[in-house]
Amino acid sequence: MKIVNSVAELDDGCTFVPTMGALHAGHASLFTAARSQSDFVVASIFVNPLQFENSKDLELYPRTPERDIEIARDSGATHLWLPQQSEIYPDNFTKRFAGPIGEIFEGSHRVGHFDGVVTVVSRLFDLLRPTKAIFGEKDFQQLFLIRKLAKSSYKDLEIIAAPTVRESDGLALSSRNIRLNKTDREAATVIFKALVAAKNSQTLEEARRVIFEISSQEPLFKLDYAEIINEGNFAIATQSTLKQRAIIAGWLNGVRLIDNMEMNLSSETPGAR
Ligand code: AMP
Repeated sequence: MKIVNSVAELDDGCTFVPTMGALHAGHASLFTAARSQSDFVVASIFVNPLQFENSKDLELYPRTPERDIEIARDSGATHLWLPQQSEIYPDNFTKRFAGPIGEIFEGSHRVGHFDGVVTVVSRLFDLLRPTKAIFGEKDFQQLFLIRKLAKSSYKDLEIIAAPTVRESDGLALSSRNIRLNKTDREAATVIFKALVAAKNSQTLEEARRVIFEISSQEPLFKLDYAEIINEGNFAIATQSTLKQRAIIAGWLNGVRLIDNMEMNLSSETPGAR
């Protein structure tokens, strides 16, 4: 694996996996998926200041550069791009806006977050000019907004979604998990439990109810939002005919965790026919 600091050292046409580092098996699965598509896989690590709402969260974001290099190399990246801030954000860079879907759910709790995400991703795409780019379903609203960005501004770029990698007890892998102490880590399983209970429900109504019920059974978990949305437009799901997804976010002792799961729920009340 070749490590580069400047995009000038990279050709066009790679399969691209952008990250913010503190890599784990979730990121590794993206590199492996990328390598199965192409022999030219560029991973990037750039902790994007624009997508952090406050400087404390940016400061606390974990940084594990040596382990990152090992994980990227061992799981299929052929190139690791470690850009300087001045390469991504020269004085004249154009800020992008995520639009209305960037302001709901995750966006309403982290003002400006998705504007920062679409801005950095468009800068990375403009500089690198990949053929394909892979993003995790773990950040489902982000994936939706990047698909929208690609549709409007990068028509030849293929966006590939990769499934969420989880711990054995269901907790979605996240760079933030290392900030959880033992008690918080155990409490964090409530998120997966709530999603599974929703998936096992019959109707949208029941699923919404059980998600709230189960999340409230864990006193350490402070729920921010839980909803079932249509995958195609992020509107609140009311029909069983469209692809549905439950999304959930909350706090555990100052650490923000998000997750989501595909649903297949009926819009009817059982026995109401
Ligand atoms: P991040 O470094 O958190 O910005 O994430 C970089 C990429 O890895 C994004 O496309 C994420 O959606 C993806 N990712 C993060 N966690 C996971 C996970 N547990 N499983 C699969 N992909 C993930």
